[in-house]
Amino acid sequence: MARIFCIANQKGGVGKTTTTVNLAAGLARVGQRVLVVDLDPQGNATMGSGIDKRALQLSIYDVLLESASIVEARQRNAKVGYDVLGANRELAGAEVELVSLDRRDKRLKQALAAVESEYDFVLIDCPPSLSLLTLNGLCSAHGVIVPMQCEYFALEGLSDLVNTIKQVHANLNADLQIIGLLRVMFDPRVTLQQQVSDQLKTHFGDKVFASVIPRNVRLAEAPSYGLPGVVFDPASKGAQAFIEFATEMVARVQTLKPAHAEPTF
Ligand code: ADP
Ligand code: MG
Repeated sequence: MARIFCIANQKGGVGKTTTTVNLAAGLARVGQRVLVVDLDPQGNATMGSGIDKRALQLSIYDVLLESASIVEARQRNAKVGYDVLGANRELAGAEVELVSLDRRDKRLKQALAAVESEYDFVLIDCPPSLSLLTLNGLCSAHGVIVPMQCEYFALEGLSDLVNTIKQVHANLNADLQIIGLLRVMFDPRVTLQQQVSDQLKTHFGDKVFASVIPRNVRLAEAPSYGLPGVVFDPASKGAQAFIEFATEMVARVQTLKPAHAEPTF
């Protein structure tokens, strides 16, 4: 059965999409069957996986409104090695349309149940908000991966996300736990980043992943070629870090305890 993870942080531009597509590509390289779910109307994970969001016949929008199944709507790009349930601007409308519908926060969970046996990992790229879309992601997932930059305000933003996760855990999805914090766009030459990184480890202990993703221009260039950095330039420092992170995740899921046996944080 698939392990389902949200890549979430309510801030924009912190590296969620980069983490999603590169972790997916890294997991595919080590033989894992992966589905990426793009839950952001910007469709960056879709484009960054080589799928043209403007050409989608069916997308996550249709899945959330139950006019298509994931089997019908998913796309496969052999170059990246994983499947994608794509998104485009249409998804912004789903937010409004879902409000009046029943089971509005459990739509994605139900749709994923039909394909769970086909994958080892499902990675959900969340939008930069704590919206009904993100809630659908959190209600579907076993865990949350939080990419963060080691900046001064990083810890402050984190408490809102942690509170939301605690509430979802308590009220909607007892399986949910924080898997870990991933330090991204890291530059060890910046003293402040080192200090924040040390603070993170003091506060959150082994919830901070051992892998660290450096700031690396190849990761930023890759999306314009419709590829994750891991596929675009596997030898680059950024790609190597994500491949290491994929290996760490494979090991981490093996030791994962049920959420009710673990404090969420
Ligand atoms: P989010 O999905 O949280 O909005 P993105 O993954 O789109 O964030 O990243 C924001 C920007 O930063 C993008 O232009 C991306 O290419 C760039 N970026 C992300 N991670 C790195 C990295 N490790 N090194 C260099 N650039 C990065
Ligand atoms: Mg994004």
